[in-house]
Amino acid sequence: MSIRIQKSKCAGCGRCIEACPGNLIKKDKENKAFIRQVRDCWGCTSCIKECRHDAIRFFLGADVGGRGASMVVSEKPDISTWTVEKPDGTKITIQVNKKDANKY
Ligand code: SF4
Ligand code: SF4
Repeated sequence: MSIRIQKSKCAGCGRCIEACPGNLIKKDKENKAFIRQVRDCWGCTSCIKECRHDAIRFFLGADVGGRGASMVVSEKPDISTWTVEKPDGTKITIQVNKKDANKY
């Protein structure tokens, strides 16, 4: 599992840099985040959960989403939306209401 940062969507906020426990993410001269060594990423998803601009795509393992499947996460104050995109273009969307989740 690994991530890819979509430079065109990156706002340069630095939240992913703070979140990465492996110190793998840096900023380039244009103030955009990039991952130094993709192979060092162990897929903890911390950076993805912090990004408010849907700029980080997480590539799932073949045993999870199928070869080539990826996921993006978008966050609104109470709603997390996880979208898994399969290689054939189909999408699965999971929405979590964080207020409700805290009730249990
Ligand atoms: S959290 Fe998202 S928008 Fe912020 S620097 Fe990282 S990739 Fe860019
Ligand atoms: S998934 Fe985890 S280890 Fe990989 S870049 Fe993001 S925060 Fe770092």
